Amino acid sequence: MVSRVIPVDPFDLVIFGGTGDLARRKILPGLYNRYLAGQMPDEARIIGAARAELDEDGYRQMVAQSIEEFVPAQKRDAAVIDSFLQRVHYLRIDARGTDGWEDLARMIRKDVVQAFYFSVAPSLFGDLAERLHAHGISGPESRIVVEKPFGHDLKSARALNATLAAHFDESQIYRIDHYLGKETVQNLMAVRFANILFEPLWNARHVDHVQITVAETVGVGGRGQYYDQSGAMRDMVQNHLMQLLCLIAMEPPYRFDPDAVRDEKLKVIRALQPVRPDDIVRGQYRAGKGPDGTPQPSYLDDVGNPDSRTESFIAMRVEIANWRWKGTPFYLRTGKKLRARASEIAVVFKEVPHSIFGDDEGWRENVLSIRLQPNEGMTLSVMIKEPGPGGMRLTEVPLDMTFAEALGADGQDIPDAYERLIMDVIRGNQTLFMRGDEVEAAWAWTDPIIAGWEARGDRPRPYDPGSSGPEDALMLLHRDGRRWREIRE
Ligand code: NAD
Repeated sequence: MVSRVIPVDPFDLVIFGGTGDLARRKILPGLYNRYLAGQMPDEARIIGAARAELDEDGYRQMVAQSIEEFVPAQKRDAAVIDSFLQRVHYLRIDARGTDGWEDLARMIRKDVVQAFYFSVAPSLFGDLAERLHAHGISGPESRIVVEKPFGHDLKSARALNATLAAHFDESQIYRIDHYLGKETVQNLMAVRFANILFEPLWNARHVDHVQITVAETVGVGGRGQYYDQSGAMRDMVQNHLMQLLCLIAMEPPYRFDPDAVRDEKLKVIRALQPVRPDDIVRGQYRAGKGPDGTPQPSYLDDVGNPDSRTESFIAMRVEIANWRWKGTPFYLRTGKKLRARASEIAVVFKEVPHSIFGDDEGWRENVLSIRLQPNEGMTLSVMIKEPGPGGMRLTEVPLDMTFAEALGADGQDIPDAYERLIMDVIRGNQTLFMRGDEVEAAWAWTDPIIAGWEARGDRPRPYDPGSSGPEDALMLLHRDGRRWREIRE
């Protein structure tokens, strides 16, 4: 089955921060891929806007380099790249000054879709919104795309929402969480809501617990200063893990419609219980050795702050107070410098009430595993009889629900999350973007947890790089008679 590509309408997409890291690694290569796939029409234009002194040729060279670096060789076609670059323009602009704005006003076409991607520091979001409006560049149909982080706490998120709302309607604001753009995340909704099989089991009676893991092997890298002000709770849990939790836990929306889906997600966030201090384990990686024996710095070295109490790892037990989930814990875990780069949601079903096969050793729950990276896909583990004579021995086999072969997607044709989300912006579909009230509700749940650590002077526990996090994180499940799934690629 070949995936269908439906071209979007002609558009002008302005990328503020068009020379930045995100634009070069994700946005521009993603747009090239969509052009190659025939989804971006020839009449579309991409306008990079940033502070750098560059002319159009210089910018096109930069875009060509980022395609060279971040698009796989088999997708690089010289003629297509050339044609794509003809659609790329550049404007020097100062978000805080007057430079460039009149030029942008002249350049933008009024008869095509207009989208403005704010790929700059959040402190500039307000300036951009205000100037787009003041110079008459944006209109009621324009869209703005806002990157993370969306606020640092509830107060700042509210302020940011209010700033954007002064110039744009909520229906024009696209807050990106790229986890929602992953094929498998959307497939999760299809599996849940387009099949009768799972939904009757999708509740506390049949689901023992849910595990959501987002593990990285990298440390804080060059983002040390930013990360130290943020930590795993703000950087990952409040947004990405929370969004994944919502998709697992939400009620079926009455329609697959942006507000209907987001209403249901919001209800989940509001039903989250406050988390008790002993249901959270925070960690910080210590110095160690890489797989090749090279010494690796500690978190404290990486951020250059020997007194830092910021967590690079967090594991927590979360409860949702509603009829569906009362009694089913959700265990969340994320961290840096862990043993593998792996993101997985595992829905662990209860064991059968009585085993007619006797007391076989081992675990025999059915697990629906939704892998987000690497190797996106879904498997359902089921128990079968071990083949051959010799009695009734049971064995667990994974039922592959990725259907990669049937869908003709060996991973090559699955668009990257950013590609899909940008095309959704052009189409005007907000389903996979966070609404302002969702973001605020998530902060309202997060803030007291962080305030508690600060009041108690809580210190994260050290863990070895390349491990699964601090020992205490294992205990979080052991004491409930459960165990974490292995972190592996
Ligand atoms: P960056 O520092 O690499 O790039 C910043 C860009 O903003 C540059 O193009 C710069 O010219 C432009 N800029 C700075 N000040 C400006 C001004 N006054 N007027 C106009 N342009 C100005 O940043 P980045 O890593 O590309 O991140 C951009 C945004 O995306 C940030 O909000 C970041 O939090 C978010 N983000 C980045 C990543 C990533 O992987 N890099 C991931 C998720 C979210």
